[in-house]
Order: sequence, then structure tokens, then C-alpha cells
Amino acid sequence: MTDASVADLAEKLIACPSVTPAQGLVFDALEAILAPHGFEIDRFVAGEAPDGPVENLFAIRRGPAGSRHFAFAGHLDVVPPGEGWTSAPFAPERRPSPGGDLLYGRGAVDMKGAIAAMAAAVRDLPADAGTVSFVITGDEEGPAIHGTRALIERMRERRDVPDLILVGEPTSTHRLGDMVKIGRRGSVNIWLEVEGVQGHVAYPHLADNPITKLVAMLSELESLTLDEGDEWFQPSNIEITDLEVGNPAHNVIPAKAKARISIRFNARHTGAELAERVAAIAERHGGTARAIISGEAFLTPPGAFSSMISDAVEAETGVKPELSTTGGTSDARFLKDLAPVIEFGLCNATMHKRDEGVAVADLEVLARIYRRIARAALAC
Ligand SMILES: [Zn+2]
Repeated sequence: MTDASVADLAEKLIACPSVTPAQGLVFDALEAILAPHGFEIDRFVAGEAPDGPVENLFAIRRGPAGSRHFAFAGHLDVVPPGEGWTSAPFAPERRPSPGGDLLYGRGAVDMKGAIAAMAAAVRDLPADAGTVSFVITGDEEGPAIHGTRALIERMRERRDVPDLILVGEPTSTHRLGDMVKIGRRGSVNIWLEVEGVQGHVAYPHLADNPITKLVAMLSELESLTLDEGDEWFQPSNIEITDLEVGNPAHNVIPAKAKARISIRFNARHTGAELAERVAAIAERHGGTARAIISGEAFLTPPGAFSSMISDAVEAETGVKPELSTTGGTSDARFLKDLAPVIEFGLCNATMHKRDEGVAVADLEVLARIYRRIARAALAC
């Protein structure tokens, strides 16, 4: 077991199909990898259809009493493979390339490869170095309702709350180590609706045109400056993503008009605050607003934790990573409530695409980087 390469471990995970929400086999495979290294495994299923059931795994290896607790977090579910793969998506295959062997399979970079690297990192870490845990969900790519959120609850109940958390999402862009995510923007979608009174266009005084009101509402929303951005975030942004009247008649003033907006916001705002602000504007124009917050923004300001990660990356790759808050949401949006969280992982060029692949050499380097980070996090 100790001899298995990181690519061998990754292959074991990739070979278990685990399209979101994942359950069963892929968790058996991870349990089999972790258990021999002294990890106590707590697996549980959360939620019901349509957003569940979802399997989650919390694994912990305790250091001496009073030691620091460092957690690796990630997901074993993957997005559907789609068509046109060169080799079967759940039959991992190594193929030579000019830059060294590549390992192909759904989840190679997002993020079974990273979980394999985490497992390899801890097996060579002395048990007395401190407490190490794995926070692994089967639902990150899906609705993410019964995944990491349920794990957070579980960890709180168990009183196993880590001091620092590293999420292994594929954050690198052109080469391993070039980017670390210290934050992410939040996201809220808002459905707007205006009810009017239907009527004949030639008799507008007998009708009430909802489109006129909706256009004024959208124009006010569009002209809002939410903030100017700051050192770590670009300015928060409102985009109109849909506009719907569905009026087939040229001579009828319709009864209803709808629109949808999407706001990507930085850590100066919360989803609820923005939803309220939009609702007030909608009301002023005679309409209503219904918001669904998909995630709050988070920022772990640069400091000791980000330095540990940058130093570990630089020591193993010679690359000084850029600290960034770009990209979509991740489960760090939930984990931030538990402890400072930062994301670092493999190159994301092929994630969610056909022929998802990872450089075998990158897997070994990532395991060494993760080991350095864990050591530093436990020592401080
Ligand atoms: Zn992912």
C-alpha cells in the first residue's frame, strides 16, 4: 500500500463511476485507502430526492492531545462525462505525451487526482505531527444541499472543528502552482415580475403596461454601482440574464412581464442584503423580486495560511503562485464558517471537458506540496 503511487491511488478512485450525487463504491475505495493509515472513518448519507441522497465522509487521525487540526476538503462526485472520449471516462488510462505520461478519466483533475494526492501526503506524515482530517462530499457538482453543509454540521456535533482547511479544487491554470484561491465571489439569482392590466394598444388608458415598468426597473438596476472592487476582488456586478413577455399579439398590451438578473458579488456584500436591495427597487416600480442565493462570498485575507501554501508551492515547483478570487463558487463558501479556508489544486484546463486528464508527474508534486502544507499548518 505504501508503495502505491499517487497515480495508482487516483486510478482507484477514477475507476468508480460517481456522477453527482455520488454514493457507495467510490467512498469504499477512499475508505480502503485511508483506513490502513490510522484514520477513523465516519460515513453517512444525508437528504432525500430530489437533492439527495448524498453520501459524505469524514475521516480523522488524531495527533497527541492538544495538537492542531488540519483538514483537507474535497468532493468525490464528478460531472457527467458527455460524449466523444478517446478512452472510456471511468476506465482510467495512462498515455504517453511529450511532457510525460498523462492519466485520463473523469475526475482526474476535478478532483479525484487531488484527493489521491492528499491521501499520499498524509500516509508519509508522522501520526504525532498533529490531527489531520478529510472532509469529503459526494455532492459538490450538484445542488450541494446535503453535502458539505451536512459535513459541517457533523463536524460541529463531533466537536472536530479544524483550525485550517485546504480545499483541493483545481485552481492552477497553465502550470501546477501558478494560482491559489484565497476567496471566491458570491452569487445570487433574482426573478423579477411585474403584473399589469391587459388591454388594447389603441386604448392604453384602459390598460397598464407591465413592460414599461419592468424596463424602468431593469434600467435602475443596471445603473447601480454596488462597489468599486478592492485589492482582492473585482467590482460586484449585476447582469440581466433573461427577459420574458411572450406576447404573440401586436395590438395587445400584455398582463405580465418577467426578467431575471444574476449578481456576482464580493465579500463586502451578503446575498440577503443584495436581495433586499433589489426587492425594494422592484417594489418601487410596481413589481416583485424572488431571490435564490447560490453562495456567499468569502475571503481569507493573505497572511500566515496563504504564505504556508505559497512557500510549499514555491519549494516544490519554483513557481510563486498568484493569490486570486476569480472563478465560480466552490464548497469553500460553506467551509469558511468553520475555519480559514484556501483552495489549491491541479491544472484546470480539462475540468468538466471530455478527455479530462492530469500529468502523472503533477500528481506526485501535488502530494509533496500538500505534505509540506500539512506539516506547516500543524506546526504553527
Ligand atoms: Zn470540483
